[in-house]
Amino acid sequence: MHIVPLPAFNDNYIWLMHNGRHAVAVDPGDAGPVQDFIAQHGLTLAAILITHHHHDHIGGIAALAGDAPVYGPARESIAGVTTRLVEGDTVSIDALGVSFGVLDIPGHTAGHIAYLAPGTLFCGDTLFSAGCGRLFDGTAAQLFASLTKLAALPDDTQVYCTHEYTLANLAFASAAEPHNPARDAWLETCRRLRSNGQPTLPTTIGREKAVNPFLRVAQASVAAGLTAHLGSAPADAQGRFTRLREWKNTF
Ligand code: ZN
Ligand code: FE
Repeated sequence: MHIVPLPAFNDNYIWLMHNGRHAVAVDPGDAGPVQDFIAQHGLTLAAILITHHHHDHIGGIAALAGDAPVYGPARESIAGVTTRLVEGDTVSIDALGVSFGVLDIPGHTAGHIAYLAPGTLFCGDTLFSAGCGRLFDGTAAQLFASLTKLAALPDDTQVYCTHEYTLANLAFASAAEPHNPARDAWLETCRRLRSNGQPTLPTTIGREKAVNPFLRVAQASVAAGLTAHLGSAPADAQGRFTRLREWKNTF
């Protein structure tokens, strides 16, 4: 099985999972890159997976779907979605011999879902490397709970985020948690990858727990960073998360 990033717009990745014959596209905001890749490689599109309703994740559905099933969140209204999913549902893609469990991960949007196969997570705009999604129609409490849920997955889970935001996120992470050698090492790796035109993704749950301040609000080092910026830090982890997310909005 191959999972390839198809760059779209400024900084999106449309992840295409394929076995050399059939393919699944995740969050195809633009049809063009998917059409080009599947034509070049002689693939048939077996399904489309959608994580949330934003246009940069759904704009290619109409041009791509044909007879292929389009899976998406039950709690969001998205044109072209044929099967609406909630946590606990299973998506079986017989042509690829793969099935995904569905997780509810609201926060970036109110109905955002993720797709989880063993070792593989498609998490849309909820978790990024060294960062997390902005709050649009969800709440900070929801996003904190969703990230806590993702952080509980096995450390070696590969995390396929849908934006190349890593270097900008790492700049904020350095301010939020000045002392973190693991994060500094990841920054060096990502600078090298980007200067060679390569993606910094997928990342892993284990790495994100080590470098991502939004998964580290229980750490004294992140509380210290917040205190240095705000003058004080909330005593509870969710309160710190909320303030960290607010700070990032204006960073
Ligand atoms: Zn989004
Ligand atoms: Fe997006």
